[in-house]
Amino acid sequence: MKVPFVDLKAQYLSIKSEIDFAIQEVIENSSFIGGAGVKSFEANFAQLLGVEHVVSCANGTDSLYIIMKALSIGLGDEVITVANSWISSSETIGQTGAKPIFVDIDPIYLSMDVAQLENKVTPKTKAVIAVHLHGQMADIHIIKNICDKHDLYLIEDCAQSHLSESNGSIAGTFGIAGSFSFYPGKNLGAYGDAGCIVTNNLELATKSRMFANHGALKKYHHEIEGINSRMDGVQAAVLNVKLPHLKSWTAARQTNAALYREALSEISQIKYIAEKPNTKHSYHLFIILSEDRDALKAHLEAAGIETAIHYPTPLPLLKAYAAEGYTATDFPHAAMAASQMLSLPMYAELSTKQIIYISNSIKEFYAK
Ligand SMILES: *Cc1c(COP(=O)(O)O)cnc(C)c1O
Repeated sequence: MKVPFVDLKAQYLSIKSEIDFAIQEVIENSSFIGGAGVKSFEANFAQLLGVEHVVSCANGTDSLYIIMKALSIGLGDEVITVANSWISSSETIGQTGAKPIFVDIDPIYLSMDVAQLENKVTPKTKAVIAVHLHGQMADIHIIKNICDKHDLYLIEDCAQSHLSESNGSIAGTFGIAGSFSFYPGKNLGAYGDAGCIVTNNLELATKSRMFANHGALKKYHHEIEGINSRMDGVQAAVLNVKLPHLKSWTAARQTNAALYREALSEISQIKYIAEKPNTKHSYHLFIILSEDRDALKAHLEAAGIETAIHYPTPLPLLKAYAAEGYTATDFPHAAMAASQMLSLPMYAELSTKQIIYISNSIKEFYAK
């Protein structure tokens, strides 16, 4: 049996006529950049999350950068982020001129170890980027308390956590702003790059919109120098078609995760990452830990099962940060996770049969 790591084609086929019609409409109307579809997506996404402002942009990396620029974060500042994430969570800090400061992860849930967060706060610290990695909420209430205590901006990187919740509140609504990616493989994915900023702060929304649009809210009235980071009409059209399905697709991911947990609980040699209490996990990724990760990955590959590693190198140990001289002993849990993590196929269209096949293949590996 072949099981791809993601299956965007299966999702497309389930909504093909709506998608084809929506894309055709964009072409007929020549509304290629911005336009009514982008405006309606902003309104629809704001309503779904219960936030006042959604500012669309070109991708979920720009959205982090734009938030920090709008908050006047730059040279001489420090922004705290987490050692295990996609590089957007740290490179955007550097793009502003500020310095990324990394916190190790906890070994159970693999999210920021909040016990170490306060030690990293200095007089230069301006903000914390909390990452809800895999769809699992960071310890957002504790992070928020620390941010409030030290007067720091809390920014949420929600690129992997569409509709995740903690104590009934939705990811992206805890701090000054949330950043979303609609990269095709994300839980809500466009057919190209797209992203957005969500906030209840009007001033931040206005500054973000201005910065993302060449520093102008009105054509030719450039109040500052900005960047060109816009959402395409085709992407908004696709997202508008997909948005009404997001809740049921998320529920299907949760069902699939429960099936995995049940099947994998018998295998003592692997650990899966449990859900934190009082949270809703949106399962962008389903992660297991194995000491024989590379051999297990090869075994699954041979059985037709595609897996992935998120991520093979902790951010501070990447060549991009070599000048800082960090070592694995500075981030022991992130280093452990990087050598043991394996992401199994996870999407709404994954069948029970496929999950059983994957689980049996893992059992077979350990029976050898
Ligand atoms: C995908 C991702 C991003 C960046 O999103 P793009 O739209 O690809 O730029 C940022 N942070 C995390 C954690 C991500 O997974």
